[in-house]
Order: sequence, then structure tokens, then C-alpha cells
Amino acid sequence: MTCAHPVTGRPFPSPVPPGTGWPGDPATAATAVAGTPGEVVELARSASDVAELDARVSVCRACPRLVEWRESVAVTGRRASFADQPYWGRPGPGFGDPAAERLIVGLAPAANGTNRTGRMFTGDRSGDWLYAALHRAGYATQPQSWASGDGLELRGIRIVAAVRCAPPANKPTPQERAACAPWLDRDLELATPRLRSMLALGSIAWDASLAAARRLGWAVPRPKPAFGHAAEAVLTTTGGREVRLVGCYHVSQQNTFTGKLTEAMLDAAIARL
Ligand code: SF4
Repeated sequence: MTCAHPVTGRPFPSPVPPGTGWPGDPATAATAVAGTPGEVVELARSASDVAELDARVSVCRACPRLVEWRESVAVTGRRASFADQPYWGRPGPGFGDPAAERLIVGLAPAANGTNRTGRMFTGDRSGDWLYAALHRAGYATQPQSWASGDGLELRGIRIVAAVRCAPPANKPTPQERAACAPWLDRDLELATPRLRSMLALGSIAWDASLAAARRLGWAVPRPKPAFGHAAEAVLTTTGGREVRLVGCYHVSQQNTFTGKLTEAMLDAAIARL
């Protein structure tokens, strides 16, 4: 089925083939595709910059269960309210300032959010919360994030995730988390020369960030710092620079609807960056 993109009006099939003009698509038809966890390791390590890394992430097919899920949602599992829109149906690449001094690490794309729009935290209630807060803090050019190509830009901050494909029930398996970890490792490595701080949204992102830092040879406090809202840990890069890791409850509806995470709490966590 082919539907019109909500911003450009151009027709796209679902999932969206790379290099066909989707706003913000970092890949082309020639982008190298990882088909196994071993190929993720190779292609992540050899990505020369953030643009190449994002392109390779966005076409990855290393986890059969997640590839099947993200594509089936894009074709037959669409939410009725989005039936007239094309679904991205691919991994969510990083989004934001490629020269950022701050990273936000999320858990994984949402089936009808990033998996539909192709951009991190875009098109769902979690994104409404996050981008409104980033706009209040001066990192986002607008408070709304409803579709790729909607004009949103981030300054000084970049958003990545522990897992880049939408998982069933929002629960990636330990094997899938491990398979996706090299993409995060490379994101940290490429950011290291300027990185000052990271915001981990939820305990999985916190653990993934600590594990990535360890694999890169950074000094990480022992015992492992425990996740909590407003928890902080200081990591030290191999070059001796300190990077502050700040914990924050995830901006999921379970937390924002119940008041577990308030706007003031989110603003305070972002201010620590
Ligand atoms: Fe590739 Fe990560 Fe998606 Fe697995 S979860 S297919 S490693 S992008």
C-alpha cells in the first residue's frame, strides 16, 4: 500500500525503501546493510562519522524478530488513526546535532511513533513531552515533533537509543539489546571529543550507557551506579575528560500520565546536562 507523507504529500510504500526521498532519510540504496550481529560490529566500527552511522543504523536487519515486527506493524499493524500515512518500518537513526556536546539515550522506538515517522520520539505522546521540554531548555527549535520534515531542529543535543528497532511490547530481548549495542558504542565514540553529558531515559538506557562506556575503556564507578530519577554518575573517557551521566524516568505514558514523571522533574533533569 502506498500513502502520502503528511508533510511533503509525496507517496511512499511501507516500509520506506532507503534513498527514496523520505525527509531525513540518512541512507541511500547503496548504504551497507548489517544482516547479522557480527556485521553490526563491523559496520558500526567502520562508520566514519555520525551521518554514515545513522545511515547504516537505518537499514540494519540483524535481528530477525525485530525486522519482522517493525515491518508487520508498518503493513498490517497500523493504528487506525494513521491508516492514511506511510510507515517508516525501519530502525530509528539518531537525530539531532551531529556535533552535540550532550546525548539523550532512549530505550527503543515506539511501534506507531518512530516506526511510523522515521525520527526519534516523533509522532507520539512521549515525544510531545520530550521535545516540549527540550524547547523550554533551548535545545529544540520548536516544541512539537509530529513528522519527519516538520522543521524541527536540535542544537547542541543528539538523541540515540539503546535499541533502534521497535520491539513487541516495548521489550527487546537480551540478545537483541546486545546485537544493537555496537551502534550505541560508536555513537559515544564519535561524540567523545566534545561530549559533556548524557541523559539516560529509564534503567535500560542507563545500563546500556554504562556498558557502552566500559566497552570504550572509560572509567566507570564501581559498584555500578544505580539508576534512579536524578541519579548521576561521572564517567571518565580514556582521554581523562569527565562525562556526566544523568538518570531520568522515561517519558513514556505510564510515567507521564501517572505523575511519576512531571514536567518540573524532566526540566530539572535536562538542566543537569
Ligand atoms: Fe539492527 Fe539494532 Fe534493529 Fe537489531 S535492533 S535489527 S541490531 S538496528
